[in-house]
Amino acid sequence: MNDFDLIVIGGGSGGVRAARIAATHGAKVAICEEFRYGGTCVIRGCVPKKLMVYAAHFHEEFTDSQHFGWSSNVTGFDWQTLISNKDREIDRLNKIYERLLDNAGVEILYGTASLVDQNTVAIDGRELTAKTILVATGGTPFLPEIPGIEHAISSNEVFHLDEKPESAIVVGGGYIAVEFAGIFNGLGVDTHLLYRGEQILRGFDGSIREHLANEITKKGINLQVETDVKSIQVNAAGRKLVALNDGSELEVDCILYATGRKPNTAGLNLEGAGVNLGTKGEIIVNAESQTSVENIYAVGDVTDRIALTPVATMEGHAFADSLFGNKPRLADHENVPSAVFSQPPVASVGLGEEDARARFEHVDTYSSEFKILKHTLTENQERTLMKLIVDADSDKVVGAHMVGADAAEIMQGIAIAIKAGAKKADFDATVGIHPSSAEEFCTMRVKDQT
Ligand code: NDP
Repeated sequence: MNDFDLIVIGGGSGGVRAARIAATHGAKVAICEEFRYGGTCVIRGCVPKKLMVYAAHFHEEFTDSQHFGWSSNVTGFDWQTLISNKDREIDRLNKIYERLLDNAGVEILYGTASLVDQNTVAIDGRELTAKTILVATGGTPFLPEIPGIEHAISSNEVFHLDEKPESAIVVGGGYIAVEFAGIFNGLGVDTHLLYRGEQILRGFDGSIREHLANEITKKGINLQVETDVKSIQVNAAGRKLVALNDGSELEVDCILYATGRKPNTAGLNLEGAGVNLGTKGEIIVNAESQTSVENIYAVGDVTDRIALTPVATMEGHAFADSLFGNKPRLADHENVPSAVFSQPPVASVGLGEEDARARFEHVDTYSSEFKILKHTLTENQERTLMKLIVDADSDKVVGAHMVGADAAEIMQGIAIAIKAGAKKADFDATVGIHPSSAEEFCTMRVKDQT
């Protein structure tokens, strides 16, 4: 007899969802977490980041509002207020996660877990057995080994800086880098974004990447592409002296590395239990999220599939329904929408133009680049870009992309249409909501010239 039907290792989005649903289906479930329930998304990721994006955007709103007749006297920004209010909300969410687990009848354990064998988990000196084990330990920031890297911070520390830096370098060109460059810049930090490649947001549609790079530069971010950091030193005043590959040097208060994340598999003794890992340390799983060991499964960032919270919860839910709810189903990784909460934000679903052209013989694209109605009264120079990618042979819309205000809110609805297989003719037949930016997705009639 095992102690549990299921032991989940890791209390983030994927693990908590799987534990809760499995318990709701009647399984006897335990979950263990070494830090705080909620995982990266709630504790040091999506949620606190989005709160900080709101904080950083206010300064534009203050300026824009004057053109609508408002006069206001904003005297400053208090970093400690933002951080403590943000922490209070994270505490609240952390407790909600625990309550949800508790209400579902899951046994909540605290401590560092590792596998003893394929049915046994050791957690702080205790050994517990289960018929099935789910690993959902997420990921952790990856920082390259360069001289002085210990003077840099990662996204783990950025949420707890004692004070707002006056100047900062952000290294990287992915989600976290452009989001934090926008947060710093919006809060008045002199911000440098250094990216090693030709253009930020590799993997996104080319026009979207270029448009965002222009927009963030207009807003004051010092974007330098094809730039690598050679070394970091600290001077007597605690400032970071950062040597770059072109021979120049920058001096800043803070250097944030957002150079990707690696799966959290060290110390779990996965290989000892027979679980195969990939070259980055990720757990290799099949479509059912099953590892090389029959009764051990893995979901979320630790599997290095698509590192997004809603994907981890989808995988965890599908796993729990399949194994404990008598409802076998697979997580569907096609057409997963995502947003980058840069300023302005980016949102996207499906293929970018470059990927679509590689996949389909005839591709049409439709773009609309404009100033939103609000900014016809302001001096804000922000411009919005929307783009549809169509497989010309089937008329199916295979990608939709946007840079501009409310991009994430708009793209969620577009993602439903694309998931349902909508054609360009369906977009054209849909009546727009006027006046809105979103209506542009229904009014793009003229193909882009290629
Ligand atoms: P990303 O993989 O998105 O970006 C990493 C960036 O770092 C890339 O620009 C990469 O360059 C660069 N890089 C990698 N190694 C080095 C190096 N040695 N030196 C210099 N630059 C380097 O990772 P993030 O850390 O930004 O985010 C991790 C994941 O978390 C994301 O991919 C996303 O899935 C998820 N996430 C989602 C968010 C959202 O939904 N809004 C927000 C934040 C994170 P190159 O392009 O050349 O490889």
